[in-house]
Amino acid sequence: MFGLIGHLTSLEHAQSVASDLGYPEYADQDLDFWCSAPPQIVDHFKVVSATGQTIEGKYVESCFLPEMLANRRIKAATRKILNAMAHAQKSGINITALGGFSSIIFENFKLDQIKRVRNLDLDFKKFTTGNTHTAYVICKQVEEAAPKHGIDLADATVAVCGATGDIGSAVCRWLSERTKVRDLLLVARNQERLNNLQAELKFGRVLPMDQALPQADVVVWVASLPKGLDVDATMLKQPCLMVDGGYPKNIDTTFARPGIHVLKGGIVEHSLDIDWHIMNIVNMDVPGRQLFACFAESMLLEFEKLHTNFSWGRNQITIEKMDLIGEASVRHGFRPLLT
Ligand code: NDP
Repeated sequence: MFGLIGHLTSLEHAQSVASDLGYPEYADQDLDFWCSAPPQIVDHFKVVSATGQTIEGKYVESCFLPEMLANRRIKAATRKILNAMAHAQKSGINITALGGFSSIIFENFKLDQIKRVRNLDLDFKKFTTGNTHTAYVICKQVEEAAPKHGIDLADATVAVCGATGDIGSAVCRWLSERTKVRDLLLVARNQERLNNLQAELKFGRVLPMDQALPQADVVVWVASLPKGLDVDATMLKQPCLMVDGGYPKNIDTTFARPGIHVLKGGIVEHSLDIDWHIMNIVNMDVPGRQLFACFAESMLLEFEKLHTNFSWGRNQITIEKMDLIGEASVRHGFRPLLT
């Protein structure tokens, strides 16, 4: 059995889908209510691999909302993640992906130091961030989509917004070593971490966002933003490919303009239908087949019987591990979203 710990993108989103989740009494509730709501298993389903193997999974809604960070409800946010992990472990799940902000909160607030949740000792080996597969999928999206829009990556400048993050740093490693893009622009706020990344890569330039965006043929968005940014489209090159891997999205999904192509980043499409409800709720275009790459990672680990925290900690994702999870991804019938 594999698990997925997820959350909704905003209070408004949560209120609008509460009934679909089976909790109509949550629909009019405010942030305080969501701060005290316990985690719930709201979906239980089977997934069939392209090899014919079938596995079972459960979706755990943590009831975390990004507004909890913006409104300094940090204690509530951390409790949501720990309680959801405990709930997954108690439900007998072998390997669970920490989707979206779950792993960010886990890392930023050092939740590895809190192993005990009530009467349960969390076994961190049963959890994965899913970030290795997410980074792999985003790199493949860049490599496969750029030529379709007339962008030659060997001659392209790629900006990575959120470059020093777990996913961003893995994407930078791949793009500089494997794809060999012409120029890489590293964007984030903390200068020391940016300088360390540049020293590790021995490649790329550190630039503020407003200077990086006008130079970029491709922008990879993987910043941990609780809310999307406003970007001035007139300052962008044409053509420009934007691969937005953020959850919630880093830029408005309606951002595309003539010559500016926005791709939902970190999303895969399965070759067979999955009989679940949860991807309707997070507005996938083809909810029976499309899903977040981090969720797919826990499926892959279950298919491969790799019940271990494959992606864990921060900035430890290697190209070798991306290759390994990428091969499993192809074998079991997942492919990066390209439209
Ligand atoms: P991390 O916390 O590891 O990294 C976040 C990065 O964003 C850091 O480089 C951080 O650097 C940067 N950042 C944060 N705020 C800003 C800002 N205002 N301007 C510029 N840079 C900023 O996050 P992850 O790598 O784990 O996740 C990144 C994104 O991917 C998140 O939105 C997450 O929800 C999403 N995600 C998507 C998945 C999928 O399956 N599609 C799976 C997992 C995550 P600094 O603080 O120095 O600015």
